[in-house]
Amino acid sequence: MNLTSIDDLTPSLFQEIISLSDRFIEVSSRPIPKVPVLRGKTLATVFYENSTRTRLSFEAAAKRLSCDTLTFNLTTSSTSKGESLQDTIQTLDAMGIDFLVIRHPLAGVARLASGWTNASVINAGDGCDEHPTQALIDCITLIQISNQLSDYDPDCQGSDWPYLKNLHIGIVGDIVHSRVARSNVRAFTRLGAKVTLVGPPTLLPSDASSWPVDITYDLDEVISQFDVVYALRFQKERIVQSLIPSLDEYIRYWGISSDRLDAMKPHCKIMHPGPINRGVELSSQAADCEKSVILRQVNNSVPVRMAVLAALSGVYVHDD
Ligand code: ASP
Repeated sequence: MNLTSIDDLTPSLFQEIISLSDRFIEVSSRPIPKVPVLRGKTLATVFYENSTRTRLSFEAAAKRLSCDTLTFNLTTSSTSKGESLQDTIQTLDAMGIDFLVIRHPLAGVARLASGWTNASVINAGDGCDEHPTQALIDCITLIQISNQLSDYDPDCQGSDWPYLKNLHIGIVGDIVHSRVARSNVRAFTRLGAKVTLVGPPTLLPSDASSWPVDITYDLDEVISQFDVVYALRFQKERIVQSLIPSLDEYIRYWGISSDRLDAMKPHCKIMHPGPINRGVELSSQAADCEKSVILRQVNNSVPVRMAVLAALSGVYVHDD
C-alpha cells in the first residue's frame, strides 16, 4: 500500500492513522521509545531535494519501530555517474526494501516510483504537488489543540470524520509552489474545516478556483476571522521569474508581522511546515509567540510517521 497523495487514504485508513498516532505519542514519551512493530523490515529514504525534518523524522520513526534504515545520499550516490531514477529504485528494490520514502523536484514521481518497486512508496514531497505526511501531522496537531480554539465544536471530537468542523484555517503566502498547501487543502477540508487561501494573485495556482476553498488577496481583510493562520514558506528556489514586485512588498502585504498578530483572534494559532524564512512570511515574534504551534508540529512528526508506517504495513500493533 502506497501513500502518494492524501487522496490515497480511505476514510478508515485516515482514521487508523489518527488513532495509531495517539498510541505512538505515548510510545515516544517512554524512557525507551522503541517497539518491535516493524522488526525485520527495511525503510529507504531517497531524497533528491534537501530536507531536515522530513528525512530525519522518517528515519527516527523507523528506528522507534525497530525497522532498519538505508539513507540514499544524492551527492555520493551513482546518480552523479548518470544513473537514472528508475535504475536507482530498481536497485534498492532488488536489495529488498519494505518502504521507499521519496522526495523529488518533479510532481508525480512518487506515483511513478511505485511502478518500479514492490515496497510501500511514501511521497515525502514531489515538486509542487503533494506532501501527504506533512498534512497528516498538521491534522493531528489541530485535533490536539482544537479544544483551545473557541469556535471548535466539541461534539465532533471522537466522531469518525469531521474532527476539524467549525475551524476556519487561513493558508497564507506562496501557495502556487506549495505541496504542503495542496495536501493540506485536501486533508483539512476532508476533516470538515473551512479553508481560505490568501496570497498575491501571482502566487495562487491558476486552478485554485476549482478547489474547495475561498480565495482572497487581502490578508488584513480576513486575518481576524481565522482560528488558524497557516503560513507557508516563500519558496525562493522555485520562483524562476519575478512573480512579486519586491520582497519588501511581499512582507508588507502577506508577512505575519506583530501588527497582524494583534489583529488575530485571541485563540488563533500559527502553523508553518518549516523551514521558516524569518522576517519574510513570519516575523521572529510571530514564529516564537504563544500562538505558535510550529514546534508542536515537529514534535508530532515522529509519532505520526510511525503511525503511517504501521498503518501502511498493515501490522497489528501489540500492547507492550
Ligand atoms: N518542508 C516543506 C516541504 O518540503 C515545506 C517547505 O519546504 O516550504 O514542502
